[in-house]
Amino acid sequence: MSVYKDKLETKLIHASSNLKIEQKTGAVNVPIYLSSTFHQASFDHFGPFDYSRSGNPTREALEQKIAELEGGVRGLAFASGMAAISSAFMLLSAGDHVLISEDVYGGTYRFITEVLNRFMIDHTFVNMTDLNEISSAIQPNTKVIYMETPSNPCLNITDIEAVVKMAKEHNCLTFLDNTFMTPLYQHPLELGVDVVLHSATKFLSGHSDIIAGLAVTKNEELGKKLAFIQNSFGAILGAQDSYLLIQGMKTVGTRLKQSAESAQLIATYLHNHPLIEEVYYPGLSFHPGHDIHVKQSKGFGAVLSFRLPNKETAKAFVEHIRLPVFAVSLGAVESILSYPATMSHAAMPKEEREKRGISDGLLRLSVGLEHVDDLIADIEQALQAASRVS
Ligand SMILES: *Cc1c(COP(=O)(O)O)cnc(C)c1O
Repeated sequence: MSVYKDKLETKLIHASSNLKIEQKTGAVNVPIYLSSTFHQASFDHFGPFDYSRSGNPTREALEQKIAELEGGVRGLAFASGMAAISSAFMLLSAGDHVLISEDVYGGTYRFITEVLNRFMIDHTFVNMTDLNEISSAIQPNTKVIYMETPSNPCLNITDIEAVVKMAKEHNCLTFLDNTFMTPLYQHPLELGVDVVLHSATKFLSGHSDIIAGLAVTKNEELGKKLAFIQNSFGAILGAQDSYLLIQGMKTVGTRLKQSAESAQLIATYLHNHPLIEEVYYPGLSFHPGHDIHVKQSKGFGAVLSFRLPNKETAKAFVEHIRLPVFAVSLGAVESILSYPATMSHAAMPKEEREKRGISDGLLRLSVGLEHVDDLIADIEQALQAASRVS
């Protein structure tokens, strides 16, 4: 352990610095070790690597980096965010029960309701902003409480410490999807969470280039169990993508800060626009859960959602917007506009969607690094087009 208390922005650059790893050459960047297997020089004593599913030097540099950034003991890199999330659920056994946020990421919803249930692992969806509802939904066999805060796409805020306290009283683990905040803004392990999960496809890599997932555990025992699952299930991140993710993570501090600043301005602009029925952004002082968010996080992130009156106005807006790409995903250098009803939440039945506020007029914007004046001007002309059909 280092005696220096570097700030996160410094750690993003120097954590698990390659100079410790590449002492022979001094290479500043982690080399891409494209080797599936490793020669063992001794008959009796094997080296630190044997086979790249079990461990690869490039992936290990990434895994150490995310563990250090999240303040955990063990980091693990997976082929996607969903691979990290589903591998974490494999810590459970038949007969166990999971409590999960009702507005969880669509893919997580699909895994819980259509895969995990076939292995006799039961679940209850709860409104994680309602501590009474959580408390009364905990069962004797509840083993995991699964949080996502801020949640997707309505940016609901869960009180992490309060949920952790309740979980500990009932001997259950807590998992938290930290994709929207990244370690720059939120440190769930410090608040007592057991496993932090990331879709590193989003802000951490930041360039719409790779699909990747990360998990970090708070303690060594859980880390060993999850590493065992990573090796057994085998959904590992490849060496080339591990390299790209390490590169992306170096700049997440500056990228996210800039995008969050723009997101705050855009959220305020949208809030004042007469055609917009609702804006969801934790940085708005009147956003539900704003105070809890401020208590547990250092920033508001770069994702916001807003509600137009109906599907027709949302369609007109999308057809006229010029700068953001219209696509699934988020967290990239380019702004990304998506339509949750048919994109991120397509896996969710219509009535479940609407219960969660994901109506036909809802759009989600992930703010990128374009100049905010250009983005606002673009939004303004697209809203004018939407007004004409409203
Ligand atoms: C994208 C996303 C996931 C899934 O990650 P993949 O890398 O697409 O598998 C999980 N959680 C959240 C919050 C996401 O945005």
